[in-house]
Amino acid sequence: MILSTWIIVAALVLLLLLLLLLIKRESRYPIRLEKILVKSVIQCMNCGLKVVRNFENQDYVFKPCGRCPSCGGDRYIVAIYGQKIKSKSS
Ligand SMILES: [Zn+2]
Repeated sequence: MILSTWIIVAALVLLLLLLLLLIKRESRYPIRLEKILVKSVIQCMNCGLKVVRNFENQDYVFKPCGRCPSCGGDRYIVAIYGQKIKSKSS
């Protein structure tokens, strides 16, 4: 009976050590939130003129974006993508 109690205690201690090791490892590699810049690509359906601008609220793909400054054709958002902001530390 005493031996089985010791085995349980030893197992618990081992588990605790493992947990501590895991916590320590996680604090060594903290989660880094990467800043991402969202861009919208606007293209003219008539002449193909492309303009890239920062994402604005309620932007979506195929959203009409007014007239083309070059030919007057209809412009639409054709793509939305994220771009990592390069930081000096990395
Ligand atoms: Zn155009």
